[in-house]
Amino acid sequence: MLSLDSVWEASLNIREYVKKTPVLHAESLSKVLGFSCYLKAENFQVTGSFKIRGAANSILKLVKQRPSLPGLVAASSGNHGQAVAYTANNLGIPAIIVMPESASKTKVDAVAGYGAKIEYAGSTTDSRIARAEEVKLKTGYIEIPPYDHFDVIAGQGTIAKEILEQMPDIDTVIIPVGGGGLISGIASTIKTLKPGTTVVGVEPEKSNSMYKSIKKGKITRLKDTKSMADGLLALQPGGLTFPLVKKYVDRIVLVKEEDIFEALKLCLDTFKVVAEPSGAVSLAAALKEDWGVNKKVMCIISGGNCDVSVYLNKKC
Ligand SMILES: *Cc1c(COP(=O)(O)O)cnc(C)c1O
Repeated sequence: MLSLDSVWEASLNIREYVKKTPVLHAESLSKVLGFSCYLKAENFQVTGSFKIRGAANSILKLVKQRPSLPGLVAASSGNHGQAVAYTANNLGIPAIIVMPESASKTKVDAVAGYGAKIEYAGSTTDSRIARAEEVKLKTGYIEIPPYDHFDVIAGQGTIAKEILEQMPDIDTVIIPVGGGGLISGIASTIKTLKPGTTVVGVEPEKSNSMYKSIKKGKITRLKDTKSMADGLLALQPGGLTFPLVKKYVDRIVLVKEEDIFEALKLCLDTFKVVAEPSGAVSLAAALKEDWGVNKKVMCIISGGNCDVSVYLNKKC
């Protein structure tokens, strides 16, 4: 299980690597919606997403145990890769990032910009994991997993610590779900410190492995996933994240692609925030329900790495 101590330790560990991201509020929008809508803007985080929190925590812990690391490898649709590449670069450790062939140019450029080597492998999480395995065998590099590791989960949990400092009276937190590392860290921390808070996860309708798994009571694998939210395409929840979600998350909701697109536009128009589709699903979910008069609802905008020109021209 994940302990609060490990989240506190992570917070100390990574303090020189991450920013305390702002909480944004839109008064006029909140009046229309009938509840107070806040964004935790991890799009402003170092490397453009929350992934740096878990990656930096894992890597810094690893370096303490093994001062002469040969190198690091990560399988990633982009943001985890950027986070590992950035941290490795800062510590002077070589890194190889395995990315999907369809990875957005923004993400590929960023990873390359941090000095990491890129290897392309298929389009699914599984094909990337297999390639990372090959790289590990060939090079002796150590793999930094994107979500299914307690050091990663503890790193992501530091967001909850910040939220409770910034908004101690928060009622509900809405969180995007991919493999489940982000929500596991936040949910276990918030529910331990402030059990009355409602914690809601969000998945795209056609990439709903956590939703299905929770419904069936066991880890359930999808054959396929499809969504513009490219950070949320895990085929199944993690072995560590699933029990944490089951224990601490109140429910998982699903959003349609059109809902995500509306939320992206609202982020730009109302909050002046560039969110990536995976980061905007939380706001998409918030807009679909009545959360109660004057309730304070925090949407985690988990990242902002996207080719803006692509989605500005897109019609849903
Ligand atoms: C990775 C990622 C997620 C999902 O996080 P998990 O820990 O895999 O659930 C959500 N949003 C963005 C922007 C991401 O990069």
